[in-house]
Amino acid sequence: MARPRGRDKLKHVTKEELQKLIEAGKSHSEIAEIYNVAKPSISRKAKREGIMIHEKKMYPALFAAQKLARKYKLMPPTDLELVCEQEGLHVVFSEFAPSISGMIEGNEIYINKNHSKSRQRFSLAHEMGHYFLKHNTNKHVDDTVMFRKNADSSPMEKEANLFAAELLMPKNALDEALKDKENIDTDDIESLAAEFEVSSIALSFRLQNIGYQL
Ligand SMILES: [Zn+2]
Repeated sequence: MARPRGRDKLKHVTKEELQKLIEAGKSHSEIAEIYNVAKPSISRKAKREGIMIHEKKMYPALFAAQKLARKYKLMPPTDLELVCEQEGLHVVFSEFAPSISGMIEGNEIYINKNHSKSRQRFSLAHEMGHYFLKHNTNKHVDDTVMFRKNADSSPMEKEANLFAAELLMPKNALDEALKDKENIDTDDIESLAAEFEVSSIALSFRLQNIGYQL
């Protein structure tokens, strides 16, 4: 039985080449057209290479985080509370069951104060995502499952997570911090996570999603 042709056509496409197209803002479909393959072949190739191609519908989440970073000249560790204060968002750290990360109701954000600091920061950035992306924030509660199983969550949750990731771990700041590294080891992840005030797990996910091989 002959193997599907699509896979062979992408055999000589390098990770760098694919990454460049993505950074130029090309979508799955546009890249598929360039190589004359079906759209799923591009998705599979990106997955094999450890690259995440954001669908165009995810761009608003990315751009919203970048816009705030420019507006407030944010540098890691991102001062989330400054942004909230300036934007009229009220943040309350409160008691919740362990399974609840946080919630948003209008411009009031509640964060589980019993979670680790880095976890609280991610939850806060996630709730801010719902606010700035104009999701329905008429009492929205996030449990921990949302964060663990990103692939299974709704588009709204994925957007809020991407917003949070870019706000806390901007791609350009990570690229700059890692530009002289040939290999990224556990120590690098831990020191960078401490510098950005995020968890090592969140940072590892983020690095893989933007194309680093760990
Ligand atoms: Zn959410």
